[in-house]
Amino acid sequence: AELPADTSEINVPRQVEGACFSFVEPKKPTNPSLIHASVEVANSLGLSEEDILSEDFLNTFSGNTVYPETKPYALAYAGHQFGNWAGQLGDGRAINLTEVVHNDKLSTLQLKGAGPTPYSRTADGFAVLRSSIREHLCAEAMHYLGVPTTRSLSLMLSGDEVLRDILYNGNPAYEKGAIVCRVAPSFIRFGNFELFSSRKDHATLQLLTDYTIKHHFPEIKSEGVDKYLDFFQTVAQTTLEMIVHWQRVGFVHGVMNTDNMSIHGITIDYGPYGWLEDYDPNWTPNTTDRQYKRYRFGNQPDIALWNLYQLANALYPLINDAKPLETILNAFGADYQKEYLNMMRNKLGLKISKDEDAILIESLTELLQLIETDMTIFFRNLSSVKKEDSTEIALDTIKEAFYNEKDLNESILGKWYTWLEHYSDRINEESLNDVERKEQMNAINPKYVLRNYMAQLCIDAADKGDYSLLNELFELLKKPYDEQPDSQKWFAKRPDWARDKVGCSM
Ligand code: AMP
Ligand code: MG
Ligand code: MG
Repeated sequence: AELPADTSEINVPRQVEGACFSFVEPKKPTNPSLIHASVEVANSLGLSEEDILSEDFLNTFSGNTVYPETKPYALAYAGHQFGNWAGQLGDGRAINLTEVVHNDKLSTLQLKGAGPTPYSRTADGFAVLRSSIREHLCAEAMHYLGVPTTRSLSLMLSGDEVLRDILYNGNPAYEKGAIVCRVAPSFIRFGNFELFSSRKDHATLQLLTDYTIKHHFPEIKSEGVDKYLDFFQTVAQTTLEMIVHWQRVGFVHGVMNTDNMSIHGITIDYGPYGWLEDYDPNWTPNTTDRQYKRYRFGNQPDIALWNLYQLANALYPLINDAKPLETILNAFGADYQKEYLNMMRNKLGLKISKDEDAILIESLTELLQLIETDMTIFFRNLSSVKKEDSTEIALDTIKEAFYNEKDLNESILGKWYTWLEHYSDRINEESLNDVERKEQMNAINPKYVLRNYMAQLCIDAADKGDYSLLNELFELLKKPYDEQPDSQKWFAKRPDWARDKVGCSM
C-alpha cells in the first residue's frame, strides 16, 4: 500500500492484524550529528570512510531522509517477557530502513530510536544517548570477542531532547536523544512467530516462516514438515553456540525475553546487559529482575532452552507433531553440557579431553565464588602459570584477580592450593609447552571486556560532549585479546565506587 502524505496517522500505536510489518517513516531529527561510526561495518556494506562523512550518510542514518526507492518498516512481533505472555510488542523504537547485499552478504539496516511506530504502545519511540552508547560500544565489542551479534554502524545525536525521568521535585529530566544504526542479516525474533501462532493466524505464520527460510536459511533444502524442523534445529543449534560464547566471556544479557531472541543465534537488543566482574553465577545486571533473578548469568542456558520451547510451540501448527520438536529440545541439555565443557577446557588451555576435567572445572567455578574473584583477570593470568611452577608461584600469578586478598583465609587458601596442584598435574599431561598454551589461552580469554564502569565513564564524558573516551574504548575493544600499549589501564578490577552500578536500557 502507498504511504499517506501525513505519516503521523500511521505511526499511532495499535494492534496490527494479518501483517508481518507496517510501513513507517522515521521522525525527522532537529539537528542530527554523527558521533561515531564503525568503519569496518561501513566497509562490510560497501561504504567507504569518505561515505561516512557525507551528507547522505548523516541524513540516512539519522532518519532525516528516506533513501530513494526504499520503504522503511517496523516488524510486528509478540513475546514472553520474564516468563509471562505479553501479547503484541513489535518494533516500538526500531525502524528497518532497507536491506543491502554486498559481497554476497545480505544485511538489514535498522535505526533504533528514530521515532514512534504502530508498535510503540505507551512509549515514545526514542532512545537516549546513554543507552545508545551502550549498544554501539557493546555490539562492536562482542563482535571482536568473536561472539555472534548484531553490529552497530553508527551513533548519532538527534539534537532533540527525550524525557525519561521526572525528578523528585516534579521537574522533568531531559536527556539527549540518539539514534543507532544496527546491522544484522535480519531482525526476526522468536516473538515474530509467536505473534501469529497465538492468534491462530496460521496462514501468516506459514508465510513468515517460508519467507524466513527462503531468504535467510537458503541452505535448508528440505520441504514440507522437514523444512520447518530443519529450521528449528538450526535455530536451536546457533542459539546454543551463542550462549556458550556468553558464558565464555562473562556476558549477561539481562533481558532474555523471547522478543529479544534472534532466529540467527546472534546477540540482539543491548539493554541492561552487564559483564561479570567477580565470578558470580547469580548475578544479573537487570535491577528489575533482582528478586527472581530469572536472567542471571548461570541461568542463561536454561532460559535459552525455555525460549526455544516457546518457539517450538509457535511453529507447532506448521508441523503438527510434537515428537520431533521434543527430540530437538531434549538434546539441548546434553549438547550444551558438551560444548560448555569443551569451551571451559579451552579456557584452561587443555587440549586432551579427560573425564576428570568436568570435576576440575566444577571445582574451579565453586572456588571462584568463595571470595570475590575477577573472572577476566583470573583466566587471563592463569595463562602465565608454568608447568614447573610451585603452587605458591601459581597462586601469586593469579592473585591479582582477588578483590580483597585479605578474604583469603587458611581454608580457602588450602582449597586454591589443592586446585592449582590438580591444574599443574593436568597441564603437565599436555603436549603444549608453556608458551604455546599461553598463546592459545590468550586467544579465547579476553584481556579487555566492556566493564560496566568503563561504559559509565564513557557515558559521563559523552554527556558533556567529550567523545575521546568513546573513541579510546572503541579502539581498545577492537583487539580484546591483544596486549595493548598502556595495557594495564583497562585491565583492572572494577573500582569500589562502581560496585553494583549497572547501566540502564531505557
Ligand atoms: P525491550 O525490553 O527493550 O526489548 O523492549 C520491549 C518492547 O518495548 C519492544 O517492543 C520495544 O520496541 C518496546 N520499547 C522499548 N523502549 C521503547 C521506547 N522508548 N519507545 C517505544 N517502544 C519501546
Ligand atoms: Mg527488545
Ligand atoms: Mg531494548
